[in-house]
Amino acid sequence: MDRQQEFVLRAVEERDVRFIRLWFSDVLGQLKSVAIAPAELEGAFSEGIGFDGSSIEGLTRVFESDMVLVPDPSTFQLLPWRGEVEATARMFCDVWGTDGQPAAADPRNVLKRAMDKAAALGFSYYIHPEIEFYLFKSATLKNGTPEPTDSAGYFDHVPGGTAHDFRRAAVTMLESMGISVEFSHHEGGPGQNEIDLRYADALTMADNVMTFRAVVKEVALQQGVHASFMPKPLFGQAGSGMHTHLSLFEGENNAFYESGSQYRLSKTARQFIAGLLHHSTEIAAVTNQYVNSYKRIWSGDEAPSYVCWGHNNRSALIRVPQYNSGKSSSARIEYRIVDSAANPYLAFAAILMAGLHGIEEDMDLPPGADDDVWALSRAERRALGIEPMPSSLEHALDIMESSDLVAETLGEQVFDFFLRNKQQEWDAYRAQVTPFELTRHFGTL
Ligand code: GLN
Ligand code: MG
Ligand code: MG
Ligand code: MG
Repeated sequence: MDRQQEFVLRAVEERDVRFIRLWFSDVLGQLKSVAIAPAELEGAFSEGIGFDGSSIEGLTRVFESDMVLVPDPSTFQLLPWRGEVEATARMFCDVWGTDGQPAAADPRNVLKRAMDKAAALGFSYYIHPEIEFYLFKSATLKNGTPEPTDSAGYFDHVPGGTAHDFRRAAVTMLESMGISVEFSHHEGGPGQNEIDLRYADALTMADNVMTFRAVVKEVALQQGVHASFMPKPLFGQAGSGMHTHLSLFEGENNAFYESGSQYRLSKTARQFIAGLLHHSTEIAAVTNQYVNSYKRIWSGDEAPSYVCWGHNNRSALIRVPQYNSGKSSSARIEYRIVDSAANPYLAFAAILMAGLHGIEEDMDLPPGADDDVWALSRAERRALGIEPMPSSLEHALDIMESSDLVAETLGEQVFDFFLRNKQQEWDAYRAQVTPFELTRHFGTL
């Protein structure tokens, strides 16, 4: 037993913990949980806890269904919403096969493999996300649409509204679980809010995003509202993005920083951006995994639709933000297409592998886009070499299917499962007769 495991055993005793939830993610990024009694903990650390993986989306093929959960003691936290008496704690787990090897289909393992690849090139990988979500009065629809909790907008101060109380409760809960919050504010849509997490290594951050979603859902329940991370819940209002700020470090040094160069971007940063631009349409099905994701991308409202980068250009897919002069540690890029319903493990892995490919292949960075790419005509965009992002989930799947990069990133099993699962979603969607068609045609055709 190592020191961290001993720490957990002691904490369980001292803090009156009665249940320990073992958390992991399925391939689509749904949080899974199984509770064990404190008496099982030592065994969980030494041998893991067996479960039937065949019932978890994408985790196994049916004929190899026995899986093992191995808790990561560094992720031990009490769940604040369960109270301090007879408390409940959680740990994130790695999923193993019964052969004692990490399961290739565990999303946490997919991200670890990508980070190992970065480490082999000398890089560690850091992320800070801006997470947008909506608050609705309830989980049921009113006249066919969700009903937001307020009608405020970007950065609005809503007197006495749910929004302040909500963000305060959510931020307090996150902080008590060791997740630091940098900003929180009302976003552009009615009932829409944003909370930005302080940067951490990508694996910690992917765990944090999973916890974040659980916390936001809990606080919503406590306050009698419904929280949704759906990419585009309301027609005509902004979608919910998860702008992902990222950087690579070499030891103590930010590998994206170089004083004196354009926007203080290092060669490594320029190659990374080039790789990410090059592969952005291939990884779109991962960063934007639902039919609904493409409604956000193609409706304006500051979601990026075209493959380009810019310095403080908010219509760009990749933005190089302004940061305090001289503070090399905050040099970073912002990948703006990821939405709030993405599986953070797979999305962070795909982004990293795309950028690393740019470094390995010494890709050239095309010129940045100064214009608002939305305002350009098709012909102008084509002349500038600015490609559109996929127009739909189907389009994104077509592109992903022939991507060696995504196949390598996800591994064969996740790649196959993902394509199959998402094709089913598309097939179900395209058979629908929508209100749009009925409103438009029923009376006249
Ligand atoms: N909601 C927008 C999106 O979907 C972002 C708005 C903003 O943060 N500037 O990406
Ligand atoms: Mg923001
Ligand atoms: Mg925002
Ligand atoms: Mg942003």
